[in-house]
Amino acid sequence: MPEVLIVGASFAGLTAARELCGRDVLIVDRSPIGAHQTSACALPLRLVRWLGAEESVLYAESRMRVEIGDAQWNVRLPEEFAVIDYAACCLAIAQQTNARFEQVRVVGRDRTTVLGSSGERLEAEWLIDASGWRRVLDSAGPTRGSQPSLVIGTEDHVPTAAAPHADGFAFYLGKHLLKSGYGWSFPAGDHVRAGVGSFIKEPLQAPMSRLRQQDELGPGREHHGGAIACIPRDPVADNVLFIGDAAGQALPVTLEGIRPAVYFGASAGRLVRHALVGGLTRPQAQARYAALHHQHLGGYERLNRVQRWYRWLPEFALKRLATKALGQPHADGRETSFRSTRYLDVLRAEHLAPLP
Ligand SMILES: Cc1cc2nc3c(=O)[nH]c(=O)nc-3n(C[C@H](O)[C@H](O)[C@H](O)COP(=O)(O)OP(=O)(O)OC[C@H]3O[C@@H](n4cnc5c(N)ncnc54)[C@H](O)[C@@H]3O)c2cc1C
Repeated sequence: MPEVLIVGASFAGLTAARELCGRDVLIVDRSPIGAHQTSACALPLRLVRWLGAEESVLYAESRMRVEIGDAQWNVRLPEEFAVIDYAACCLAIAQQTNARFEQVRVVGRDRTTVLGSSGERLEAEWLIDASGWRRVLDSAGPTRGSQPSLVIGTEDHVPTAAAPHADGFAFYLGKHLLKSGYGWSFPAGDHVRAGVGSFIKEPLQAPMSRLRQQDELGPGREHHGGAIACIPRDPVADNVLFIGDAAGQALPVTLEGIRPAVYFGASAGRLVRHALVGGLTRPQAQARYAALHHQHLGGYERLNRVQRWYRWLPEFALKRLATKALGQPHADGRETSFRSTRYLDVLRAEHLAPLP
């Protein structure tokens, strides 16, 4: 029996496994590591470096364009953001672990036994659920995609030659695209990742066609999409630690989920490691992880409130809010900076204090 069983070999699960290097860890996933991209994969470049996955970077830039209808802001970010190759990043993190990997589709849990779809029965001293929004180890069974609290997103990978207007990171907040959500266009080496995300589960086909039309995009060569869990859920239940989207830790409004998945994955991995070497009891490690999650609930609630109101905000009000945050819009190449960097300062795995 391994010391730790991690379900889900993506950002949260692999980061936790990295912190547990040297211990007896088994990671299971329904797909081979890195096989199914779950994200547009934009994240702070510093975090990619911290993960030891710099070779996965396809594009990095410290500016972004925000468009709301005919108003445009060119924003200088306080740091560089990167777009990464998902498979290369996952494999780079996996290489820094000594965890064993098995391909198992988990269908649920019978008390302390994790159940696989082919009859597998897996046990470990510690169970970590990093299975994303499905939260497959929840005692009530996996979450369904129809769950109203989930946000949805979809994305095309369009070859750069077929994306004539692609020019750096772009965010489209205009209400002509979606009632409640936003569109994006991120350069990623030989292609552009163009997608839309809806806070209220609007059907995404029509907004995606509008985005294609607006940016005169050619056909995509790859397509993926899924749900994002931004409403925090119990981080510890029945002795299972839930990390990343499995604990609803993606950031509302921006839908940035990688940074929190890595932050909470690293924290959980460190605490379990500390418990395994006798520095903490199991209840102490669980309580410290739960406290860390709860410490951020106020921020999640504030952002979730904005996300709930978003559908009722008319475009002129959105422009007014953007002007307050970014100054007057401009289309002549002038740049502005964020007035506050508070949002970017939280949930930074690079700032986590090391445990003894
Ligand atoms: C279209 C889209 C674009 C996005 N773009 C960004 C972005 O640019 N930047 C950003 O920060 N966030 C983005 N997000 C959000 C981000 O992808 C997630 O928040 C993040 O991937 C969460 O990481 P995770 O490790 O918790 O879960 P996931 O990355 O979802 O990984 C879950 C893992 O569990 C595995 N799994 C699931 N079910 C089972 C099962 N039954 N048995 C075994 N294994 C299972 C999956 O195969 C997967 O490997 C985007 C999301 C979407 C949908």
